[in-house]
Amino acid sequence: MLSARDLTKSFTTSEGSLQVLSGVSVDVAQGESVALTGESGSGKSTLLHLLGCLDTPDSGTITLKGAPLHDLDEAGRAQIRRSRVSVIFQQLNLIPSLTVAQNLDFQARLAGVLDPSWQQELTQRLGLTHLLTRYPEQLSGGQQQRVAIGRSLAIRPELVLADEPTGNLDEATAETVLDLLLEGVGRSGSALLMVTHSPRLAARLDRVLHLQEGRLR
Ligand code: ATP
Ligand code: MG
Repeated sequence: MLSARDLTKSFTTSEGSLQVLSGVSVDVAQGESVALTGESGSGKSTLLHLLGCLDTPDSGTITLKGAPLHDLDEAGRAQIRRSRVSVIFQQLNLIPSLTVAQNLDFQARLAGVLDPSWQQELTQRLGLTHLLTRYPEQLSGGQQQRVAIGRSLAIRPELVLADEPTGNLDEATAETVLDLLLEGVGRSGSALLMVTHSPRLAARLDRVLHLQEGRLR
């Protein structure tokens, strides 16, 4: 489903150029769930941003079901993000001026795929029913994280890229979130690539990739 070849990415910093990814290739098949691990600063978020069409590689190719993503213009990348690939961010990016209910609907409305019964099920299973009229600043970190997850899953994406989605959550809630993510993979034949530092959660996925010195091991 997702195939990336020889991705490179460097950033210009005050100390000069920093090579973060040096020839990363990754394949994720339909129905597959893959964990991505690696030290802080090893480039996990950078890789997710490239795969999720939030940033472009310096070189290398990315295809989703055979269609190239790496050379799309910004409008093309926005289209992919809106309806096909969901990124759950490390920084949650909830919209502060919208309520929980509006944040949950937001992406699905944009994509024109609002499905009220799915929305209701997500809201219930993520334990957000009693929080729908609140604003993000009135929520705990873990509650905000669950809203971000609900918003991403609302569009039933083909591919979910999740950047430590359970980082702020207690163990039981983290398991529920992973259940939901894995159900999407099983039920709708989508795929999941998830950054996690938890060996216990990583062990529930199909395989584990480790990023080290800009390469996957
Ligand atoms: P963590 O586990 O702490 O989230 P990570 O593996 O996700 O780490 P990245 O966020 O991908 O790491 O960052 C990889 C390296 O690239 C880091 O050294 C970081 O400082 C640098 N970096 C990331 N984004 C930028 C940017 N926009 N400009 C300059 N340097 C950046
Ligand atoms: Mg990161």
